[in-house]
Amino acid sequence: MFQMQGPSDALVQRLHAMPKVEIHVHLEGATGPDTVWDMAQRNGVDLPADSLEAWREFYEFRDFEHFIRVYIAATSAMRTPEDFEQMVRDFAGRQAAQNVRYSEAYVSPQFHLSAGLSQADLLDALAAGADSGWREHGSKVRFIADISRQTEMRRDDVLPFALEGRERDGLVVGIGIGGIEEGFPPELFEDTFTEARRGGLHAVAHAGETTGPASVWGAIRSLRAERIGHGIRSLEDPELIAYLVDARLPLEVSPNSNYRTKVVPQDEPHPIRALVDAGVYVTVNSDDPPMFSTDLDNEYVTLARQGFSFEELWQLNVATLEAAFLPEEEKAVLRKEWAAFADGIGSAED
Ligand SMILES: [Zn+2]
Repeated sequence: MFQMQGPSDALVQRLHAMPKVEIHVHLEGATGPDTVWDMAQRNGVDLPADSLEAWREFYEFRDFEHFIRVYIAATSAMRTPEDFEQMVRDFAGRQAAQNVRYSEAYVSPQFHLSAGLSQADLLDALAAGADSGWREHGSKVRFIADISRQTEMRRDDVLPFALEGRERDGLVVGIGIGGIEEGFPPELFEDTFTEARRGGLHAVAHAGETTGPASVWGAIRSLRAERIGHGIRSLEDPELIAYLVDARLPLEVSPNSNYRTKVVPQDEPHPIRALVDAGVYVTVNSDDPPMFSTDLDNEYVTLARQGFSFEELWQLNVATLEAAFLPEEEKAVLRKEWAAFADGIGSAED
């Protein structure tokens, strides 16, 4: 992968130590191959591999199409409320270990409802996992219900799921679209998003990852997306860049994901540098960490290797906190912690 310099151990340590939030990470895609294998055994689900070894190999990305196949196979193993409770609790533990205080995790209810889990059981399980994750690890998790664009089954059930989840103390904060962009433009989901926004849900959309600027424009105009997942291909349209800068519309950028799905060539610097230089509002995220052999710490280290200074990475971290759909009083608590961390570094350098 493109690399300018190895960051010093001190910088890697500091990036690990800084308190963080993450706003683009998929619950299903944050679950590792071994856990998925165990769930499949427990639930009598056939995976497209006949040994754990082969499954681990299959789990590794090859390209975007393969990634979607892995995602769907892994998701098919997740069946019971216990599975989901464990997934969320373990996820919170891994986030806490990186000093991630708060995560907005995408969840794809269509697959789980189709597999026979009821809306109430799924929401109960997510809430129970988030509760124990918070109690045991001190890392908070809320959810964004993601519509899988290419999947028709149970599509109409995502909005009711999200609205009911919002009623549960803000467990679900928003609605999104993900999956295959090509052939499934944002415009198809306009009515659903209009209703979702009326119901108090935030609106986000994966766009401008595998297709060009038209998809980002669609997310903005039809869905009134408040944040764009990836959005890196906005760079192909200067007018769109000008709009994003002007509107301070955050992009949820995940460098390693883009390299692994080959949306960005391995030997090129990640376009996040060009986006930052253009003044676009950029946040840093891991997307599907075990599928892309990454985590949030590693995303920051990857950027450090590409020449970002600590000060720049700290600004991205602050921007990510500000882009979170957190209630103002909770955000204020985290802002204080961020400020204390920055003060600590300032005085260590005096
Ligand atoms: Zn994503």
